[in-house]
Order: sequence, then structure tokens, then C-alpha cells
Amino acid sequence: MIIVLRPKTTAKQIEHIVKKLKEHGVAVHVSKGTERTIIGAIGNESVISELPLAAMPGVEKVMPILKPYKLVSREFRKENSIIKVGKETIGGKKIAIMAGPCAVEGRKRLLAVGDEVKKYGANFIRGGAFKPRTSPYSFQGLGEEGLKYLAECREKTGMPVVTELMDPRDTEVVVKYADVIQIGARNMQNFSLLKEVGLTRTTVLLKRGLSATIKEFLMSAEYIMSQGNHNVVFCERGIRTFETYTRNTLDLSAVPILKKESHLPVVVDPSHGVGIREFVAPMAMAAIACGADGIMVEVHQNPEEAFSDGDQSLKPNAFGQMIKDLKAIAKVVGRTL
Ligand code: PEP
Ligand code: MN
Repeated sequence: MIIVLRPKTTAKQIEHIVKKLKEHGVAVHVSKGTERTIIGAIGNESVISELPLAAMPGVEKVMPILKPYKLVSREFRKENSIIKVGKETIGGKKIAIMAGPCAVEGRKRLLAVGDEVKKYGANFIRGGAFKPRTSPYSFQGLGEEGLKYLAECREKTGMPVVTELMDPRDTEVVVKYADVIQIGARNMQNFSLLKEVGLTRTTVLLKRGLSATIKEFLMSAEYIMSQGNHNVVFCERGIRTFETYTRNTLDLSAVPILKKESHLPVVVDPSHGVGIREFVAPMAMAAIACGADGIMVEVHQNPEEAFSDGDQSLKPNAFGQMIKDLKAIAKVVGRTL
């Protein structure tokens, strides 16, 4: 149920409504918009509908949320959510550019590529310290050592860190170093992991599962928000189809659909979406054109030596060229870079 409050409702009135709901075992999520406050009451619908909510001081109207995703939906929050990460934001006018290697491969390499992407206009450093590899014999990531290098890169460049969490047992250590926790495609429906990151207040970049529908994607975000963490960002990274030319099929139609259904920001990862270096920049441009709030791309100084995903990694100068082109597209759609 959504409880829409009148514009001048006092903090005391809000407190009273929240208290009443909690007394009846209802989960309460308060969303303060620029104009008015909305209370999301999630729980047993028959209990909630029995409460005299409309009669409480400050309440303008009470409406059911018809979609299965509640806190994630546009019904819950009309305005776009703008998520603050350090000095950066995701979901505002400025497009977020997350760039860096697939995996953190060593201190020197990471700090060098961090300086390069920063120089060309990235505002987040990405890199995996825990890598979800198809083969157990492939490089699995440097673990905490890798997280330390990411934190050092942040110190040096000021860019917040985006890095993947695969195992709920590593939550504490990842939260210690990361500004944005990435939930990888393979874990989009790992519900215990989603609940775990929902208990933190660190921003979560939720990647779309390899064969997940948009509705399932929205429901996974709901898992995180239902635990209290409202700092969630969607990341479209391609899905499996019958097409084999590309690594995945980048479903850009998901971008305007997610923006319609949800208030949460949407980022696109064209690197995993196509898997081929040559097609990363054109798909990044298309992503901005169709309304994405950010781009996540893999950049490596020597892609042929990369421990993972070298084929789809851009060299720093190609990344720089892409940023120039993205600036032109951003202008057309009323965004900045
Ligand atoms: C990655 O970002 O390096 C990654 C493993 O992505 P995905 O989970 O989308 O495959
Ligand atoms: Mn990768």
C-alpha cells in the first residue's frame, strides 16, 4: 500500500503513522521526495486495509501498489532516484562512467589503468577482486589484496570503487573497501546474497541475469530494497539468445522499460553485452541515447595480456575516443558527462 502524505505533514504526524503500521507488523519504508513524502506499507494486505490510514492526520490518499515489485516501482516513487556515492551521483543529469579492468591483476597495473581512465573522464573505477569464472582453474581474483589496490586507486584518483561480491561470507570485507557492490549476472537470483547486501547501506549495482526477464530483474531489486537498502542501480549487461556472433545480446530495450517501471537508475555494460571490443563504443552510444544513467566498460592497457575478458577490453586511448563521442550524444538527450 502507498500512503501519500499532504505537502505540509509534520515529522510528528509521520512518526505517528509509522508507529501505527509497525504495531501491526507492517514493514514501513518512508520516501521523502522533493514535494511530498510517501510511505510504503508492505505486508499482509488484509491487515493493512483494515487500518484507518486515510483518517490519520497528514494523509492525503491511500492506494494499493498493483505491481509485484513495490518499493522498486514508479508507483512508490514518481521522481527518479538519484543515488549519492561519495562526491558522485548515479541517476541525475550527469552520466556515470565506470571503467577499469575486468579483474584487478596487480597493484601497478591497476593504479596505471586507474590514472588513464580518470584522465579520459571516468568517474568510477571498476575491477573484480572476486571473479566468477566458468572454469575453477581460471584466475579467481586477488581477494582482499585486490580490494586494497582498488582503495589505493580511490585515494589517488578520487574515483569511488565498484567491485563484485560473490559470497555472503565476504560481505564485510567487500563493504570495507567498496563504494558500490556489484552483484554479478550469475548471482542475480542468489536470494541470500541479495538479502545480505540489502542489510548494508552500500550502493548495489545489480547486473541482469544471463536469462532473466525484466520482471525477474525488477523482483531481484525488490529483494534488496525490502531489507532496507534503497541504494540500488540496475545494470543491463546482455542476455543469452540464439545469437552467437556476440557474447550476449545487449537488450537495450530494457533501459526505457526499466525507467518506466522503476525510479531506480539504469547503467549499461556494453563490454559484456557484446564481448567484442569493436562494438563496445557504438553500443555505449546507443545506451546513452535510449536513456541510460551510466556506462560500465572494461579498459585494459594491454588487452592481449589480460587475465580475463581481453577481447572485449578497450585500450585507454579508444576509451578516450568513446568518451568524446558519448559527450556529443549526452548533449542531444539533455545529459552531461
Ligand atoms: C564483470 O563485470 O566482470 C562480470 C563478471 O560481469 P557479469 O556478471 O555481467 O558477467
Ligand atoms: Mn569481465
